[in-house]
Amino acid sequence: MKVNPQYNSKEKLLALYNKPLLELVYEAATIHREYHNPREVQMSSLISIKTGGCSEDCGYCPQAARYNTGVDAERLMDVGMVIERARNAKKNGSSRLCMGAAWREVKDNRDFDNVIEMVQQVNSMGMEVCCTLGMLSDDQAKRLKNAGLYAYNHNLDSSEEYYTDVISTREYNDRLNTIENVRDAGISVCSGGIIGMGEKIEDRIGLLMSYMKMDNPPESIPINALVAVEGTPLEDQKEIESWEIIRMVATTRIAFPESVVRLSAGRTSLSMETQGMCFMAGAGSIFAGDKLLTTPNPEFNEDSEMFNILGLIPKKPFQDGCQPESNKDLIIENKKALAEKRKKELETARENTIKLKFKPRVIKTVDSSLNEKQLSK
Ligand code: SF4
Repeated sequence: MKVNPQYNSKEKLLALYNKPLLELVYEAATIHREYHNPREVQMSSLISIKTGGCSEDCGYCPQAARYNTGVDAERLMDVGMVIERARNAKKNGSSRLCMGAAWREVKDNRDFDNVIEMVQQVNSMGMEVCCTLGMLSDDQAKRLKNAGLYAYNHNLDSSEEYYTDVISTREYNDRLNTIENVRDAGISVCSGGIIGMGEKIEDRIGLLMSYMKMDNPPESIPINALVAVEGTPLEDQKEIESWEIIRMVATTRIAFPESVVRLSAGRTSLSMETQGMCFMAGAGSIFAGDKLLTTPNPEFNEDSEMFNILGLIPKKPFQDGCQPESNKDLIIENKKALAEKRKKELETARENTIKLKFKPRVIKTVDSSLNEKQLSK
């Protein structure tokens, strides 16, 4: 993915962000028209396949187990139910399905096998499949790729400097490593941030600079507005002004002309006019459906009305890349190898328990020099 060499430093990006608003939007709209069809906006759907109970402490997230937000921990959704939701999303015009699990990282267990199955089935429905499952090893990224995963979402959230004010349970570098594993597996990268968490404008620019420094910046950059949820550390954050999201979308558009800028969480508080300005400024995708993981989102019919009024058309899948093939043989091979690995681990654990249980007792020898009196003590 290309970056705009005109804005390859913090100072230049900051000056761009602070340009008179309408000039900024005009410049972004011009670039958008050069690289994308301005009438096309992709409708994506996000399903929470595993809600709540997460061990991380992301300050904005109602799914973190440590915050009292009323979000209960659930088990992984059944494959059949996910497929039914995917069908419904497709019927309503979505061409991309993102499946989110509230995990710190992916574990090589049966839940992951089921996610592989979901990816395979949704891909065979002709939708772009995206997952957001937390940290990912290179092997896990390859397994997802073999199943037909099109994109993987892993946000950097903010600048490296501000990140530690919001999250302490994992580092910025951990996130960068996952992005690298995704990239190396040949999966399209989706990574962006959240504005309105109390960060400075410099932090928003810092986030963009992190992508600027990558050899290959993300194909998708979601821009989220914080939805402050009661019970989270960021519950008292004020809603951002609409012009702030327009500025952020426009600056991202200009800095990364080829990437898809995704107008993501926080749309319920944006008027149709503000969203229209965001599309003008280069937003090329929205999340459709009444929920975004656990936070509210406009309904499908509200969005189709907005599309009609603004003259937008839903973007078809695989306009920016080919549909990945699900490699069934490799999926079966991987599954067998993992089952074998699990069996061995179980056997070793069992052997260790047996050893611990039947640890030979140390028999004390009696010193023959002790007299009877001493022995009877
Ligand atoms: S954002 Fe993701 S990793 Fe962070 S607490 Fe929420 S579910 Fe967990």
